[in-house]
Amino acid sequence: MDVVIYVRWSSAEQGKGSSLERQEGDCRRFAAARGWNVVDMILDDGISAFRGQNSLEGGLSNFVDDAEAGRYPSGITLLVEKLDRLSRQNVRSVVSWVLRITELGVVICTVEDDRRYDADNIDMVAMIEVAVKAGLGNLESQRKSTRVSAAWAGKRERLKQGDRTVLTRRAPGWLTVEGSPPAFVVIQDRAEIVRRIFEWTAAGLGKHLIARNLNLEGVATFGRANGWHASYIQKILSSPAVLGEFQPGTKPKGGTRIADGDPIPDYYPPIVDADLRNRALASMATRSRIVMGRGRRLPNLFGGLAKCECGARMTFRAKGAKVRANGDVVREDYLVCDAYQRGRGCRNLNHYNYQIVERCVLDAVLAQAVEDRHFEAPAEVRRIEIEIADRSRVLARTRERADNAMELASESKRPEPRALYHRLVAEADAVDEAIGLLQNQLVVARGAVSPAEHVRRIEELRGGMTSDDESERLAARMKIMGALHDLVRTMMFSRRSRLVGLELKNDAYVVVHPYGDGISAGYVANRE
Ligand SMILES: [Zn+2]
Repeated sequence: MDVVIYVRWSSAEQGKGSSLERQEGDCRRFAAARGWNVVDMILDDGISAFRGQNSLEGGLSNFVDDAEAGRYPSGITLLVEKLDRLSRQNVRSVVSWVLRITELGVVICTVEDDRRYDADNIDMVAMIEVAVKAGLGNLESQRKSTRVSAAWAGKRERLKQGDRTVLTRRAPGWLTVEGSPPAFVVIQDRAEIVRRIFEWTAAGLGKHLIARNLNLEGVATFGRANGWHASYIQKILSSPAVLGEFQPGTKPKGGTRIADGDPIPDYYPPIVDADLRNRALASMATRSRIVMGRGRRLPNLFGGLAKCECGARMTFRAKGAKVRANGDVVREDYLVCDAYQRGRGCRNLNHYNYQIVERCVLDAVLAQAVEDRHFEAPAEVRRIEIEIADRSRVLARTRERADNAMELASESKRPEPRALYHRLVAEADAVDEAIGLLQNQLVVARGAVSPAEHVRRIEELRGGMTSDDESERLAARMKIMGALHDLVRTMMFSRRSRLVGLELKNDAYVVVHPYGDGISAGYVANRE
């Protein structure tokens, strides 16, 4: 028996490729099992049967034409996954379409429920069945979920075999899917927020405090959520996607997602290194112990930034408070190269006094912010501000005139003031829209000076760092840490000179001499 396979994918369906593959695979297996001879395959790609488009324009209409023209003298079977692949038009259209092509000698077979429709068995009952099935097609049968699962199983199999083509357009909040073939792209400022969340967690802060701080800083959420919530922080912290891993899972209808199979590495671009994640997880595991201890103080503002010249991170070692001969109590915390500490080949045995480094770095960064032209507000901002002010005046005047015209119109009942009113309202709307665009431009232009804004915050918050109130101190330190991470790309601790070099995100350098008790110097150099 000769068979033509008909495969259709509509744009409403996810995963075009796998849907086609699966339909074709199912049909071919079905035909092979019965010893049928597949002579052709019709592929209606992206044409929705919902409006009956495919029976008019797609490959299916050519098939009907061929059948009509007698191209299949010994009969032909049209094999489809299920009837609603043929058409999702209303019931009557489907019935009449099926009647018409079966009268041409075409037999329709369905894979899904192994049915056969031909001119001899199309009767009233069959027509009702067709009608009901077409109706189900319109409503999307519950079988869709099993079909989707089957498609996913196929994709997972391909993933296991090393195929890294994008599995789904759904991506974690810090990634987007772009291009063709689609690929994941990191949204850098969001990835930065995620890293900061991990750093804060590694430093001993809880998710409630982190959510609160992000909200206080006005950091935009990744989705439509109104502000940051501890639950979302938790979700990020426990997501293997930050490391680039994809955990396949299934989500029963109405249930929660459960893991299914091993995680697949290198699936997403990683945005957090395994070391940072381990430190954050370790900190979460021990949080109940440290929450009242040093964790609450956020002792190390440089987590994630401080690097030894060998490339390893600088770890924070707390030595606790020490009483000096003169009775002063000093904290003796140090930054030490992790590679040196663990005997991994680095010779930088310097123990950089943390308190001194912190004071010097904040001094130097503040000094450079005040003096340096890098942080001057661009003229662009001023220009846009002036333009917005001008247009706002025009807007106010136009609206006033429109109100007057409206009054006049209601008094005089003449058409002229009414026409004037409409013209003025349209004018006002246009000006209003222009102001909206300018305000967007202003946000962008101000973004260029945001490091200065962060530094302003540092200055303001520095007072808070010495506050008597513990929670105020902590809040100040959290904000400064956030600002530093916005401003500084890396902090390099050199071995021989013991200098600390800060590479800023605006490509400037600040070099700090963390010597002595509070004596510091910093200078700025352009990269070029
Ligand atoms: Zn080192």
